[in-house]
Amino acid sequence: MGKSLSSNLGYPRIGEQREWKKALEKFWSGQVDKEVFLSELKKLRFKSLQKQKEKGIDLIPVGDFSLYDQVLDTSVMFGIIPERFSYDEGPVSIDTYFDIARGNKGAVASEMTKWFNTNYHYIVPELQGAKPKITENRPLFYYREAKEELKIEGKPVILGPVTFVKLAKGYEPEQFDAILEQLIPLYAEILQQLEAEGVQWVQMDEPILSTTLHSSDIDRFKKVYEALNSAVPKLNLLLQTYFEGIDDYQDIVNLPVQGIGLDFVHDAGKNLASIHQHGFPEDKVLAAGVIDGQNIWRSDLSEKHDLLQNITNAVPAERLIIQPSASLLHVPVTVKNEQFDPVLQKGLSFADEKLVEVSLLSKGINGGRKAVEKEINESTAAVYALNQSGDRNVLSVQEEIRQLSGYRAEREAPFNKRKKVQEASFGLPFLPTTTIGSLPQTAEVRKARREWRKGEWSDDQYGQYVKDQIKSWIAIQEEIGLDVLVHGEFERNDMVEYFGEKLGGFVTSKNGWVQSYGSRCVKPPIIYGDVAFREPMTLKESVYAQSLTEKPVKGMLTGPITILNWSFVRDDIPQHEVTHQIALALRKEVEALECEGINMIQVDEPALREGLPLKKEKWENYLKHAVYSFKLATASVKNETQIHTHMCYSNFDDIIDAIHALDADVLAIEAARSHGGLIKTFEDKAYDQGLGLGVYDIHSPRVPSVEEIIDILDRALRTLDPELFWINPDCGLKTRNEKEVIESLKSMVAAAHLAREKR
Ligand code: GLN
Ligand code: ZN
Repeated sequence: MGKSLSSNLGYPRIGEQREWKKALEKFWSGQVDKEVFLSELKKLRFKSLQKQKEKGIDLIPVGDFSLYDQVLDTSVMFGIIPERFSYDEGPVSIDTYFDIARGNKGAVASEMTKWFNTNYHYIVPELQGAKPKITENRPLFYYREAKEELKIEGKPVILGPVTFVKLAKGYEPEQFDAILEQLIPLYAEILQQLEAEGVQWVQMDEPILSTTLHSSDIDRFKKVYEALNSAVPKLNLLLQTYFEGIDDYQDIVNLPVQGIGLDFVHDAGKNLASIHQHGFPEDKVLAAGVIDGQNIWRSDLSEKHDLLQNITNAVPAERLIIQPSASLLHVPVTVKNEQFDPVLQKGLSFADEKLVEVSLLSKGINGGRKAVEKEINESTAAVYALNQSGDRNVLSVQEEIRQLSGYRAEREAPFNKRKKVQEASFGLPFLPTTTIGSLPQTAEVRKARREWRKGEWSDDQYGQYVKDQIKSWIAIQEEIGLDVLVHGEFERNDMVEYFGEKLGGFVTSKNGWVQSYGSRCVKPPIIYGDVAFREPMTLKESVYAQSLTEKPVKGMLTGPITILNWSFVRDDIPQHEVTHQIALALRKEVEALECEGINMIQVDEPALREGLPLKKEKWENYLKHAVYSFKLATASVKNETQIHTHMCYSNFDDIIDAIHALDADVLAIEAARSHGGLIKTFEDKAYDQGLGLGVYDIHSPRVPSVEEIIDILDRALRTLDPELFWINPDCGLKTRNEKEVIESLKSMVAAAHLAREKR
């Protein structure tokens, strides 16, 4: 009898100490030349391959490594280079490659957008005018080097054609099939070269299968994989899905490929139910993703062993591949370098630890549970200990959650009534002006924080420094003539981490970095326990700022959904319960602010939209909890207290009803880059609460002119209710310098004055 193999879908690129990021940035800044750069990356790549081998992985992915992004790699492999970048023939130069990703003097970078439900961003392929052709066989290159230099028989990973075209832009829907027709022979040729090389398995990533698809898409899958399969009769194609269970199970598993990869972690057993209900084709291998590739928690291997046993009732072990549910690109490299409290430390599993879990499970399935009994028991004990820990069982928090049942989080009076009360108490002018919260985080501000963290500055010294910043910027804002001021967020490193460091139930890791886009990595806070309010988090700064001025100063908080979506979240209780816990903690902050005379409070939810589930049928439930959590955090205030919120993206079509349901008194959103479409969304839906459409783009250092702001205002006010309208920039100003900020805000205020005169 054959045995089941262990496998991996993709490994983090960045290295244990973010060596990848550092190498990229050194190369970009000209500190090292191309040869040195490429050889450093090769060292890193080989180390990662070796590690996977040492952990006992049979099918090690190759070609998952990238100089920037795997979607860009695919575009470049097929010569899909936007015309504004120089390219003739042959392999695409590394300079052109990075230009597409980052832009150059003469040409703007390609757009980047979020990769499914992760915080990774890919470079959007531009198909307009493209004439696809093969420029290089990347997977072959990576396969060869691993085989020749490391004796590793790798499994090339390729982004599949249907997902690739779905993620691309620059074509009309009716051109989809014609584009596929162009790409199929190119994919076939890449695969034929791999086949000729003696490759055993190729992983064709088609994560689009975890979204809601149309039946015409399923037909496309049939056409594509029939063509590819007949092009490479000797090569084993593994069609890999991840992130969710799949709809259209029978169609997918019957595609003409040799293996199907399914996620058995997410979507509440959907794929498991499918294999039992419909069976699994006898001529195929099942690659079972049983270890969560997107989260950082250690698995109870006893449960996972049982899950695999259960799967073997439908698919015998010799036709089983055991693997994580997704590429490990989305988790940090290793827990080894962290120093958490032992109970937490033992309850964590990053990429390296997950591979060990996979490998143990495969030993258990091949050699019987006894073979790994000790390790299984250790894992069960570790997970149990974490679940039983005091931090996961904070009675006061759990009691508050229990008391919520049936609680309707609603403001005392409806918006119209509140509006009158607030108008009377704030006395703001027509078309009030404000900003989104942060003011320049200069090198000096960041240096001050570093000194303080290192212990070289005392708490008092740092606190005083922050106060001085606030003081000087309150004066600047008054001088500019803004109507509603902010304290500037100088004390914050990051809008989520700042709260994570102050709330109970969170920890921050030392090295838990994951790639966000390009060389940029993020270190999401870890929500490991019950989230508890410990002490006011923003009160000191807000109250101080307010004490300096007669004008209102907005309190500034990050909302529950954004905190959740930008953290690694415990998975032993439902996510919405964690969100409710965060919301209750924030409510205490809101109440503390209100109690100290802060009567305008902004609760930012920039991540609300990106948390939308992949499957449309789950949106309603997600949005319901998102709205409820926001209201839980904000609705207990008096009618006089004005709640603001901010979101920074501009496609609201899908979520406008939910946004309305937040019942914020004022919604400030990013708009300058796509004004027309946005205005339409808000008219169509007759949005009838306070609304600030960003009037200039803060992502550029350019100072907007008064005239262009007036233009934008005129357009907006033609159709939206001027009585509800606010004037603000697109987003926070922390990335801009002092001069840019002052000049831009002066233009904005001047435009507001002109608009008021026209009333
Ligand atoms: N208040 C935050 C700021 O101004 C909002 C940031 C964001 O929208 N991402 O920086
Ligand atoms: Zn924003």
